[in-house]
Amino acid sequence: MSATVQDNALEVLRHVFGYSAFRGKQAQIIEQVACGGDALVLMPTGGGKSLCYQIPALLRPGCGVVVSPLIALMQDQVAALRQAGVEAAFLNSTLSAAEAAEVERSLRDGTLKLLYVAPERLLNPRCLGLLASSEIALFAIDEAHCVSQWGHDFRPEYIQLSQLAEQFPNVPRIALTATADQQTREEIAERLQLKAAPVFLSSFDRPNIRYTVVEKDNPRKQLLHFLRNNHVGASGIVYCLSRKKVDETAKWLKEQGIKALPYHAGMDGDSRSQHQARFLREDGLVMVATVAFGMGIDKPDVRFVAHLDLPKSLEGYYQETGRAGRDSLPSDAWMVYGLQDVVLLREMIEQSTAPDEIKRIERQKLDAMLGYCEAPQCRRQILLKYFGEASQPCRNCDICLNPPERWDASVAVQKALSTIYRSGQRYGATHLIDILLGKSTPKIRECGHEHLSTYGIGKDLSEQQWRSALRQLVATGIVDVNAHGGLQLTDACRPILRGEQSVQLRRVIEQPKTAGSSSKTPLSFDNDADRELWAALRQCRRRLAEEQNVPAYVIFADATLQQMLEKRPQSLEALRDISGVGDRKLELYGTEFLAVLRQG
Ligand code: ADP
Ligand code: ZN
Repeated sequence: MSATVQDNALEVLRHVFGYSAFRGKQAQIIEQVACGGDALVLMPTGGGKSLCYQIPALLRPGCGVVVSPLIALMQDQVAALRQAGVEAAFLNSTLSAAEAAEVERSLRDGTLKLLYVAPERLLNPRCLGLLASSEIALFAIDEAHCVSQWGHDFRPEYIQLSQLAEQFPNVPRIALTATADQQTREEIAERLQLKAAPVFLSSFDRPNIRYTVVEKDNPRKQLLHFLRNNHVGASGIVYCLSRKKVDETAKWLKEQGIKALPYHAGMDGDSRSQHQARFLREDGLVMVATVAFGMGIDKPDVRFVAHLDLPKSLEGYYQETGRAGRDSLPSDAWMVYGLQDVVLLREMIEQSTAPDEIKRIERQKLDAMLGYCEAPQCRRQILLKYFGEASQPCRNCDICLNPPERWDASVAVQKALSTIYRSGQRYGATHLIDILLGKSTPKIRECGHEHLSTYGIGKDLSEQQWRSALRQLVATGIVDVNAHGGLQLTDACRPILRGEQSVQLRRVIEQPKTAGSSSKTPLSFDNDADRELWAALRQCRRRLAEEQNVPAYVIFADATLQQMLEKRPQSLEALRDISGVGDRKLELYGTEFLAVLRQG
């Protein structure tokens, strides 16, 4: 039995989707669901969750029903399936009555193989009745973490999806999410009645993403430098904390000649969906956004995710950076961070009206985030460990590629601590550094701080070195930040001030390389012929995409074009062997791409 299911699944993978082998646990999951079982799937973004329900739906009689929270994105998912020759449709509020009736008819007729539905639509009695009178292959609940009341993507309608278990006891259900933590996992199993279902947990590593944290100095300039050096003409996301900063940064990037658009919850719905659609469809657009942007964005060729502000938790950070490089090509997760970020986030926590218990958790999350920024250890090891996974140093993060030096900072730290103490434990880093460097600012004169015994005793270090040192003291808990950004001593300071304990700090020597600058990406070429052929392939793809009004990646992903560039297939048969070229796409686009390849 299962040998045939596996064979059939592989047939579909090759002929419909054009891929040669399953990734990770895809084969096991597909077998489980195709044979009628339930499943809970935890897989990182880009891991290949869609095939886990699409292939079983194609193998089983009837139509697979996919619950997805974002109606704006259903259209592209359906377009991608249709390109592969799969009968797919969606039901949501954007359809006219006539269009919806047409979809309903094809569902009843049994011609539809995949139907995407928004949860609120699915749960209305009429729709449930329609499903009850049709043959259903399976229910797939995408972004299943939306049932979690504690998560940031909570959708009340998701909770009611437990009805499906009662009303359709014989239809297999598969829930999928990229949120890894134990608590969310349990909530999903509990609320969706999947406690008896096997859990398929994948590694959450994303080896193609290069993690880099840079000291914040002049963030806009640093961003521009990063973009110009590594990602010219590439699609990417820049995250900022506030709406205002989103607007300002997008405007500024545009002035610098970079195609950038803003996205945040304060914009009207129309411009929001318009900007989102442009990001999905156009090549090389930079989306400057708050965390409101991103869930369900399955654009495969996002080459970088940049953070201009410190995220509030590692969970959020990992989810946001995970939007880069779904196509497995080299990508960057790049962040600038400074002490001011810590001060701001601490302030936000203290001033919120949340209960103390929540504040305590938020503080812990922020501390873990800080630990990530300042630890002298492989970034990926820290991230994976946070999600309960052990791993080796990755050789693809700034720390691995450019290990920081450690230096004995005991004396310098004593100077800093005593400056904090003598000035009354209420000043922020900038003023404290001015004292250490012996500067004569109005504030120094006003406070009479030129008379402190530590005034000017820190001239052996630069301003940047002092900033880095103070940040590390905060990150390691030696120094505290109060709600107004003032630095304060903690108990951990005593042995240091008494000279009983030495302090090691890390020193970064040079700006590390990012993924685009040192690895081969679609945008770096060995010679002009490659560059021209690449441009011609993209041009062909763009023309086909525009003709049909679909995103370019729906025709072929970057990874597929890149393989064409490498292997230069000269016949339809050879083109068939390129990953991502299935039967239908070969038929539709084979000759056009061959013509381009033969010319190149
Ligand atoms: P997720 O939903 O888990 O974020 P997707 O299902 O969107 O990931 O898949 C990410 C990318 O990987 C897509 O471009 C998809 O076509 C591709 N992909 C998925 N499975 C395979 C496979 N077995 N072989 C090659 N490419 C795959
Ligand atoms: Zn590493």
